[in-house]
Amino acid sequence: MRQSQKLFRRAQLTIPAGVNSPVRAFRAVGGTPLFIRRGRGAQVWDADGRAYIDYVGSWGPLIVGHGHPDVIKAVQQAAERGLSFGAPTEQEIEIAEVLCRLVPSLDQVRLVSSGTEATMSAIRLARGFTGRDTIIKFEGCYHGHADALLVKAGSGALTFGQPSSAGVPAETAAHTLVLEYNNETALEHAFEQGGAGIAAVIVEPVAGNMNLVAPRPGFLERLRQLCTQHGAVLIFDEVMTGFRVALGGAQALYGIRADLVTLGKVIGGGLPVGAFGGRRDIMQAIAPLGAVYQAGTLSGNPVAVAAGLATLKLVQAPGFYDRLAASARILCEGLTRSAQAHGVPFSAASVGGMFGIYFRETPPVNFTEVMQCDKERFNHFFHAMLAEGIYLAPSAYEAGFVSSAHGAAEIERTIGAADKVFSSGTG
Ligand SMILES: *Cc1c(COP(=O)(O)O)cnc(C)c1O
Repeated sequence: MRQSQKLFRRAQLTIPAGVNSPVRAFRAVGGTPLFIRRGRGAQVWDADGRAYIDYVGSWGPLIVGHGHPDVIKAVQQAAERGLSFGAPTEQEIEIAEVLCRLVPSLDQVRLVSSGTEATMSAIRLARGFTGRDTIIKFEGCYHGHADALLVKAGSGALTFGQPSSAGVPAETAAHTLVLEYNNETALEHAFEQGGAGIAAVIVEPVAGNMNLVAPRPGFLERLRQLCTQHGAVLIFDEVMTGFRVALGGAQALYGIRADLVTLGKVIGGGLPVGAFGGRRDIMQAIAPLGAVYQAGTLSGNPVAVAAGLATLKLVQAPGFYDRLAASARILCEGLTRSAQAHGVPFSAASVGGMFGIYFRETPPVNFTEVMQCDKERFNHFFHAMLAEGIYLAPSAYEAGFVSSAHGAAEIERTIGAADKVFSSGTG
């Protein structure tokens, strides 16, 4: 911890709170963030040389683990050819073809450099295409930090008890209607009241930024029906769930087609790649074909695309998602069994390669229930697990991630560590 403490002190002199993204600062759980020196497979090593089994995975992208040789080789080869051209390359077509082939409802796709850019662009496109202003989002869902979407958002925004941000004009937020996740009645009511003005509904088909909250059966189906009925664009924000919950993302898992889909995280394999795509008629409204402007100096960056392509090749291996889902499920079952054996109120859930752990008896179905989790207990658990060499997300409001590098040994070791923590009463 000594090196991390030193680095943290130094970082705070020139970087606000010492971090370049808020949740990294450990404010929710207290203590000093680990400064990471390197990663390999399922493990990371901190600045003091201590090893941890990593369940953060760079917050989702590292689905094949750290430093996979195929990904590293692809990046090295791409870098040799040049870092950026600001002109089209063949690899951009390749990744677009892969995405359109594997993700349902993608006729066309455009690359950007982050999930935030993808959702921001999708919202603008939906508004431009429909000629309407109102967007609907759900409480606790996070869609990046564009103004219109920073209303009752999850993730870091939740951790700090500031569901909205200062600096967002009231007029901007006024066009964003926030509804309860998994609440069909509220949704029906909103469409009854103002259906003709609704440009888009944006949803995390599996919410992963208020811890993990799975959609209740029927919720996404009803959402699809209402959007179709009222001519609103349905946007599945699959920045987290894309290539995470299944090969074709949540659309494939639940058999529902969105009009627009946003992607990020896994599709860049650890380098900055985002994407938004969907129905051809909607995508044709983008400049230079249409009137909706969208651009990016480093969009489709060749080195980032190479990392994405190599990762997307690996996840297409037969049985990849079965094994990934089994790892997450076995982890959740093991943790729950251990907690119950020691009388700790606890539950866990997983969807594909993402999971949630909750210090309450049953998995939450919406933001209000997420807030009922015992945060103090989580914070104790987090630090106790860290001391055991298990690196969980440093907030009770984040989902966890397994990678294909998390084998039976890592999962077993994690359950063993949790058992020790629960039995000592600190859980
Ligand atoms: C991470 C995330 C984003 C934002 O992506 P960035 O690359 O961090 O800008 C948007 N939507 C969802 C669902 C996410 O999980």
